Amino acid sequence: MSKALFYEKLDHGRVKCTLCPHFCVIPEGKAGFCGVRTNKDGELESLVYGKVSAAAVDPIEKKPLFHFKPSSLVFSLGTLGCNMHCGHCQNWEISHVILAENFKEGKVYEIPKEKPTEYISPERAVEMAIQYDCQGIAWTYNEPTVWFEYTLDCARLAKEKGLYTVYVTNGYINPEPLDMIGPYLDAYRVDLKGFSKEFYKKVAKVPDFKPVLDSAIRAKEKWGMHVEIVTNIIPTMNDDDEQLNAISSWIKENLGENTPWHVTRFTPCLEYSKLPVTPEDTLEKAYEIGKKNGLKYVYVGNVFGHQLENTYCPKCGNLIIEREGFDVVGFNIENGKCIYCLSDVDAVF
Ligand code: SF4
Repeated sequence: MSKALFYEKLDHGRVKCTLCPHFCVIPEGKAGFCGVRTNKDGELESLVYGKVSAAAVDPIEKKPLFHFKPSSLVFSLGTLGCNMHCGHCQNWEISHVILAENFKEGKVYEIPKEKPTEYISPERAVEMAIQYDCQGIAWTYNEPTVWFEYTLDCARLAKEKGLYTVYVTNGYINPEPLDMIGPYLDAYRVDLKGFSKEFYKKVAKVPDFKPVLDSAIRAKEKWGMHVEIVTNIIPTMNDDDEQLNAISSWIKENLGENTPWHVTRFTPCLEYSKLPVTPEDTLEKAYEIGKKNGLKYVYVGNVFGHQLENTYCPKCGNLIIEREGFDVVGFNIENGKCIYCLSDVDAVF
């Protein structure tokens, strides 16, 4: 257990966590919504500092990040818990340390039972990244915000050692913690799961999605992070033209036309196990909507071998990065320029 950052002491031994927009008010002995930050003797503690539930060497394309250090390897770490409880979470075994179906808004949970984890210190995490020939570290698999203190310590060390750093996040973080870690993060891969309060309430169990929008803008504008957006397209939930138009227009207007948008195939799971997988033509429709709204780089994801996993030069239309799943198999860029028309490619190499 380690002392948490970002909380206020209240009366009757309660604490208010200010790390994310839930602002959980937590009585003594209880945990907040994410299930991994607890009130111990009137102080907020993290139950997951350095407790790694999953670690792997991944291609950066798996995050997915397609315009940031293409084909590099990234040391990827996750813990337990999440500040959203999505009904279709593919990583629910580590993120839903509290069963999603028991969730009621405003409820304060019992401290969850421990799940298998291994302690990896920030120093060791950075050493392992270098030892495994990774160029960077990503906090991923579950929501990185919930072990903020650990990611901050790791990120500082990683930058000292010349590694890049990545948050794979739902974007539900308050501005102050984002400003604290901002100087040490290079890329912010953020989900924009839908574009209505109703969607976020129903699917992710959070009251509003404005903080997600705000954090994506702040990451880019204030901290100069490379930002890519993912929307997992769930049949009947967020596959309507209205939401797809709203998401892609918002990205263009607020993050810019060069921001990659990944529209990924949903796989039935948990509360949404009776829905079908996303049809390819729905993903292609989302692609068309994104392009029509002015985005230069839209990708179809989770469909192995789909031609819209590739990058085409927005100027001359030639194939400049060819992908097969998470592998880059063709690379027609030199010195950051398309080899065919010599126009600049919008990416971090
Ligand atoms: S980080 Fe966890 S405890 Fe803190 S406000 Fe968010 S959900 Fe609540």
